[in-house]
Amino acid sequence: MKSYNFKNAVNDLCEHFQTYKKPTEQTIYNWLKLVKFIPDEAVDYIITKIKDDKDSMPRNLTKAFKEYWRMFLFDNPDKLAKHQRTPCSECGGEGLIFYTEHDMGQIYNGAAVCPRCENWQQHFGSVESHQKLSIADLKKRGAQVLKPIPISDIPF
Ligand SMILES: [Zn+2]
Repeated sequence: MKSYNFKNAVNDLCEHFQTYKKPTEQTIYNWLKLVKFIPDEAVDYIITKIKDDKDSMPRNLTKAFKEYWRMFLFDNPDKLAKHQRTPCSECGGEGLIFYTEHDMGQIYNGAAVCPRCENWQQHFGSVESHQKLSIADLKKRGAQVLKPIPISDIPF
């Protein structure tokens, strides 16, 4: 994502949510480092989703950007860059392990980065800021791991 695109997105959201305290240039720069891997083509989608779903400016804006980036990929499987992938028994070659988890009476759907292969890079570029969890890790924390399926077939 180009820096001016991110800056415009932040300003647009501040305007929309009538944020009193606008982030400083330094803050925007720091945030950008965390979401720079998200391509420009997803930015409009992300802004629209944040405006539709949130009642106020997200307290953790970069987290919101990453969440909606994942949703963008689920909604636009054709946009996934077709990188070379290696066979992987852990994730079925998708690079991601999908799971559902109960927390405080709610059911959450999640995607963890596969710790055994590099195929996740096709979804997240080369930024290693995503949590890597094996099937065993996920089961240990009580999550239900879904069978490996192509990202285009993800039911959520
Ligand atoms: Zn894998």
